[in-house]
Amino acid sequence: MTTAAFSTLPLSAVTLANLDTLGYREMTPIQAQSLPLILKGHDLIAQAKTGSGKTATFGIGLLEPLNPRFFGCQALVLCPTRELADQVAKEIRRLARGHGNIKVLTLCGGVPFGPQVGSLEHGAHIIVGTPGRVQEHLRKGTLVLDGLNTLVLDEADRMLDMGFYDSIAEIIGQTPAKRQTLLFSATYPAGIEQLAKTFMRNPQQVKVEALH
Ligand code: ADP
Ligand code: MG
Repeated sequence: MTTAAFSTLPLSAVTLANLDTLGYREMTPIQAQSLPLILKGHDLIAQAKTGSGKTATFGIGLLEPLNPRFFGCQALVLCPTRELADQVAKEIRRLARGHGNIKVLTLCGGVPFGPQVGSLEHGAHIIVGTPGRVQEHLRKGTLVLDGLNTLVLDEADRMLDMGFYDSIAEIIGQTPAKRQTLLFSATYPAGIEQLAKTFMRNPQQVKVEALH
């Protein structure tokens, strides 16, 4: 498998510097296949095993079009669990260094609702959360997704296994039609195809079998 440096992509100097600091020099195969499509604005279904670098793939993709001066939610990442949401938020914060004052907020169940409302009032550029809690905030009107550019469904197969299809569908119904949708999954069960057919616009598909 040939590798390619991140510097071959049309990325901002700040992102390239952050990747260098993180020690990410060569793209992993899923990054090399996905990022050119993501940066062109395509919807994408990416299938790759755990540990293949999916977080940085969508993290870079959602940060490039972000406007730090607009304090509305521009990117939403849905994850199956709070632990995964915390890991994703941590990685996005690292990738966002130097991009301006970018706020990444996690919205997960199992923690009190009120403090999340307080944080949302201060504004957040990027939200990483679990479907149930995000849906709850949308229903209460404490979260508005009118300014969303990028929607990421991370570990989509696990979210479907956990019975989140309807929550995801309701959340997507609150987002602008003109958005980029990126779906990441280790497997490709029927529910994923249903999600893609219903909510994605001409999605490009990439698949990586081996880890590296
Ligand atoms: P996945 O979501 O596919 O399971 P992660 O995004 O959690 O994988 O990444 C797995 C590990 O690989 C993380 O420790 C991450 O820091 C590291 N990683 C991601 N991209 C690169 C890269 N291009 N070069 C080196 N390490 C990377
Ligand atoms: Mg992952």
